[in-house]
Amino acid sequence: MQSSLSLPTLSPTIPRSNYVVQSTLPLAPSKPINLRFCGLRREALGFSSLNQSDSHRVRLVASSRSKKVSASLSDNGSAPKSFDYDLLIIGAGVGGHGAALHAVEKGLKTAIVEGDVVGGTCVNRGCVPSKALLAVSGRMRELQNDHHLRALGLQISAAGYDRQAVADHANNLASKIRTNLTNSMKSLGVDILTGFGTILGPQKVKVGASDKVVTAKNIIIATGSVPFVPKGIEVDGKTVITSDHALKLETVPDWIAIVGSGYIGLEFSDVYTALGSEVTFIEALDQLMPGFDPEIGKLAQRVLINPRRIDYQTGVFATKITPAKDGKPVIIELIDAKTKEPRDTLEVDAALIATGRAPFTHGLGLENIDVATQRGFIPVDERMRVIDANGKLVPHLFCIGDANGKMMLAHAASAQGISVVEQVTGRDHVLNHLSIPAACFTHPEISMVGLTEPQAREKAEKEGFEVSIAKTSFKANTKALAENEGEGLAKLIYRPDNGEILGVHIFGLHAADLIHEASNAIALGTRIQDLKLAVHAHPTLSEVLDELFKSAKVKEHVSSPQAVAV
Ligand SMILES: Cc1cc2nc3c(=O)[nH]c(=O)nc-3n(C[C@H](O)[C@H](O)[C@H](O)COP(=O)(O)OP(=O)(O)OC[C@H]3O[C@@H](n4cnc5c(N)ncnc54)[C@H](O)[C@@H]3O)c2cc1C
Repeated sequence: MQSSLSLPTLSPTIPRSNYVVQSTLPLAPSKPINLRFCGLRREALGFSSLNQSDSHRVRLVASSRSKKVSASLSDNGSAPKSFDYDLLIIGAGVGGHGAALHAVEKGLKTAIVEGDVVGGTCVNRGCVPSKALLAVSGRMRELQNDHHLRALGLQISAAGYDRQAVADHANNLASKIRTNLTNSMKSLGVDILTGFGTILGPQKVKVGASDKVVTAKNIIIATGSVPFVPKGIEVDGKTVITSDHALKLETVPDWIAIVGSGYIGLEFSDVYTALGSEVTFIEALDQLMPGFDPEIGKLAQRVLINPRRIDYQTGVFATKITPAKDGKPVIIELIDAKTKEPRDTLEVDAALIATGRAPFTHGLGLENIDVATQRGFIPVDERMRVIDANGKLVPHLFCIGDANGKMMLAHAASAQGISVVEQVTGRDHVLNHLSIPAACFTHPEISMVGLTEPQAREKAEKEGFEVSIAKTSFKANTKALAENEGEGLAKLIYRPDNGEILGVHIFGLHAADLIHEASNAIALGTRIQDLKLAVHAHPTLSEVLDELFKSAKVKEHVSSPQAVAV
């Protein structure tokens, strides 16, 4: 069973998410409930159109280059003969933005349709505000760690924070990045069309509630995802919340239950505990952080969970969560994940539902082009080309980002968009998802690329090759020790016969930055025997990876297919 609470297995063909896919909890509905009900969702469900006075929203740009919309609603079925745009992107999240910028660079006349605010999940309700909160939690941890400060010879009287000022920091950062994103597209001549996009037929999209139709030679769906809330959980946005609400930091509860111990849950546990909350994790699988490489997961538990004000229940489902009201706390009813017998009832101040993300593909008009979603995700091939209900490719239609479920990460969405633009401008390109890194921005951070050790061993057994493991500790790194941050491990999973990197996992200071040497090596096909010759500045954390590659024992001393220049 694929769980919404874990990193799904890494396979280029199976939809994969690092920010966990739609739940398959036993009681989960076929359609997600209690999802974010923003202007966009309102429009998707046929309510009133967007409030154009909203200052965040962008207006229909009357670009000098853009022709007037031409086709009419009556010609839905047939493909148009001429087009308003070379490329039309539905959804201005990071995926759509990345595709739009690359399309302009390639000389394509490009428009992007956005039904809510530019920037999508990452900028407004995801990566950006969460990293702003994590920047605060990191500083708070340092200032509260007397032992650590004394070791550096520092003394500090007391650390404190202003909740509203912290919330403002996150909100201000999101709005700054949103403005940057909007301006970058406008300045390059991307037309930003405001309204909900509905596909009417081949190469035709209706924008907003009016009957305006835009035609394009190629269309990219980049409509993203929304929080998934399992059946039985009542979200009130105050005491039972999703990440959308949590990022606003309207309260810092004394005791918060976090349902789901994937990336999002783990990052929020870092924020809440640094700000003084007590956390209880509720996890359906038998272990916390089930998607991580098990060895890294164990270390992460020892450092990020055990010494903090965090307890947990594993192997349990939250079947019913009732928000606090009339002086009563939030009530969480738990059943045993295997036996389905009642296990416990918790009474807490708040509950954060971090049980995964559901693709946002509702109301997109997929039925007009005979595309059937799979658990809401749009089926695509390895080139992000949309596959219809009969298993055939839909000409000129692509889907990128969270909506296809291949790898629910911001940079994956953007990379898929760039890959599609490469294809429509005449260069075949297949993105290697095994080279895309992922990171969890806790303190310290966790990062990874490629396969976990169990996944690598399974593949090795099937394909008949040997797997070796190399490890280095941050304790042997001068820079980490200078920072008094020696707690950390880097792990390399590789083929000793030819030096191919199968996976790299890092837990430690700046792990999210360090992973790129490994991910670029995988993307470029660089083998360990060549990486061993690369030079790293001393003293830097990058020497953790230098040591890692140098300690690997590769039998064959042939160079990589494309050897690195060192
Ligand atoms: C709390 C949290 C933290 C995260 N942290 C990270 C992180 O640190 N790093 C990372 O890589 N990823 C992170 N993610 C995941 C990341 O946010 C997503 O993977 C990424 O935003 C997906 O981009 P996208 O372009 O596919 O979709 P989205 O960003 O969701 O954008 C889709 C856009 O399409 C619009 N839209 C939808 N339907 C229509 C329609 N029919 N017509 C017009 N517009 C439409 C939506 O309004 C939205 O603006 C995080 C997510 C969360 C929730």
